Amino acid sequence: MHFFCKIINNEIPSYTIFENDDVKAFLDISQTTPGHTLVIPKKHRDSLLSFDREDARNVFQYIPEIARAIKASNTDIKGINLLNNNGEVAYQSVFHAHIHLIPRYSEQDDFSIHFSENQSHYTPEKYEELAKSIKTQF
Ligand SMILES: [Zn+2]
Repeated sequence: MHFFCKIINNEIPSYTIFENDDVKAFLDISQTTPGHTLVIPKKHRDSLLSFDREDARNVFQYIPEIARAIKASNTDIKGINLLNNNGEVAYQSVFHAHIHLIPRYSEQDDFSIHFSENQSHYTPEKYEELAKSIKTQF
């Protein structure tokens, strides 16, 4: 059985902070920053890309309150990043869908994201073509 499914079944112990019939939230063992938490669906899904709308409701409805509880736990927490990785290329390493809640203490804490600025490489036509290639997939 899958690693996170075993955590759900309590076959592997975890530092659980919130749990109900839909989700389990527990401390990420790496603790990228203190309070780093994973939220996982109780129903096995390989990634967010396998979620239907009900799966999405079942998980995401709890994210704000879990995030608030984390923030309320430590006055040094100034913000929280929400992160979800889908596919190895996107740094997914455990193939049971999970959402990271990463408390932020300062811009110099142990987590960072790099957003490139590529606007200068785009024309209105290129944006239109890109948007069309996606919106025709629904
Ligand atoms: Zn699983």
